[in-house]
Amino acid sequence: MSSYESIAQFHTALKNHSTTCQSVVEFYLQEIEAKKHLNAYITVFTDSARVLARKLDEDLAAGRPMLPLHGVVIGIKDVLCYKGHPVSAASQMLENFIAPYSATVVQKLIDAGAIIIGRLNCDEFAMGSSNENSAYGPTLNHLDNTRVPGGSSGGSAVAVQAGLCMVSLGSDTGGSVRQPADFCGIYGLKPSYGRVSRYGLIAYASSFDQVGILGKNLADTALVLEIIAGADDFDSTASPQPVPAYATELEIRPTTKKFAYFKEAVEHPSLDPEIKRGILSYFDRLRAQGHTVSAVDFSYLDYIVPTYYILTTAEASSNLSRFDGVRYGHRSSRPISDLAEFYAFNRSEGFGSEVKRRIMLGSFVLSAGYYDAYFTKAQQVRRQLYDQTQLIFKDFDAILSPTAPSPAFRFGEKTDDPIEMYLGDIYTVFANLTGIPAISLPIFWHSNGMPYGLQVMTNRFEEISLLQVSALLVQSSN
Ligand code: GLN
Repeated sequence: MSSYESIAQFHTALKNHSTTCQSVVEFYLQEIEAKKHLNAYITVFTDSARVLARKLDEDLAAGRPMLPLHGVVIGIKDVLCYKGHPVSAASQMLENFIAPYSATVVQKLIDAGAIIIGRLNCDEFAMGSSNENSAYGPTLNHLDNTRVPGGSSGGSAVAVQAGLCMVSLGSDTGGSVRQPADFCGIYGLKPSYGRVSRYGLIAYASSFDQVGILGKNLADTALVLEIIAGADDFDSTASPQPVPAYATELEIRPTTKKFAYFKEAVEHPSLDPEIKRGILSYFDRLRAQGHTVSAVDFSYLDYIVPTYYILTTAEASSNLSRFDGVRYGHRSSRPISDLAEFYAFNRSEGFGSEVKRRIMLGSFVLSAGYYDAYFTKAQQVRRQLYDQTQLIFKDFDAILSPTAPSPAFRFGEKTDDPIEMYLGDIYTVFANLTGIPAISLPIFWHSNGMPYGLQVMTNRFEEISLLQVSALLVQSSN
């Protein structure tokens, strides 16, 4: 057996009896083993995947209907709970922790016939842009093993890139689905805030986090979104807005579109000159095809990364307080003299250095003397960004930008300078600050041999338009 280009192709093979769910699972198990050096999976769920595959084959043999994700092999980022399976947020803090329940998205996938094949490596507690912050060591970019896969959902991106599953789930707080998709040459979609339930997702920054999808093509990505989206009694921030049939909305309509881009974004000094040229000449091509592509002023660009890091670290410092070694997490074996020391030992041994940095930063911006200067001010900027964005979408169908300022960089290149690492999030955090959906489309190649993507953003809950415009943009790039 070889791998399939799409879920539709696999389902055709399943209907023709030219494959089975069990043989597909065995194929992926072999591939995972053969490409173990990439370190994409933390744990492979061999036994439960085989059990599911057998049952799915039996269902078909008994004449039961084929489910929308029948036999689709999916890897999940190590921040999503799957009942009875380990989950650790790639942290020593949660080593040996077994999920007591399944995340809503995981349950929805399984109910739709998917097979969860394992948990995927990532930056610890989803904090990072290169997968170098994992307690399990970094995942390697399959196109060039000396380069990072991006982060924090690096394992999720490489698993799709290297053919170690058909689609994967990641989480995106500030770009963690889109940036690794960009670095690995695949599709990465972050839905609108509230489109997908966060129940069972280990929280980083709750007003930013969304579960996202990494796939080989738009159709697979749209289908998985359709399955996992929707209201949830366990998450009041999951919107009750009805879920459209995303997967059937992908046909390209022969219309011209109005695209905006931020002048400051393409002129930013951190943007790789070749990416800048590639994006600008692509804009010219769109214009030649009859679309409007207009520069809009966006004077906030240099504020968005600081705003993002103030608000997300504040939320993280609160979310991660539960990992104290009592309710959850690593418990130190060192002798203690009092309770404060007990907490200090547990937390300083359990968390890695980036997580500690963010907890301290978050506690600082929330402290009494600095709350107004940092936290309140950042909330105000967030509000202004939202208002400005609404104005832009009055006149435009979508906003286009690079996904990241550079292609995949080399291991160690940015680890000494956290600020430089943070600045790489310049194009992606905007969608999380404003709650809008965004996707990275793998349509460009850099002369260094690495791929890079185009980021597309539409207004909140306009995933249909996002997917349709994306189909058009991919076609226009060919
Ligand atoms: N790179 C960003 C950060 O480190 C994004 C992380 C994410 O989206 N989870 O915060």
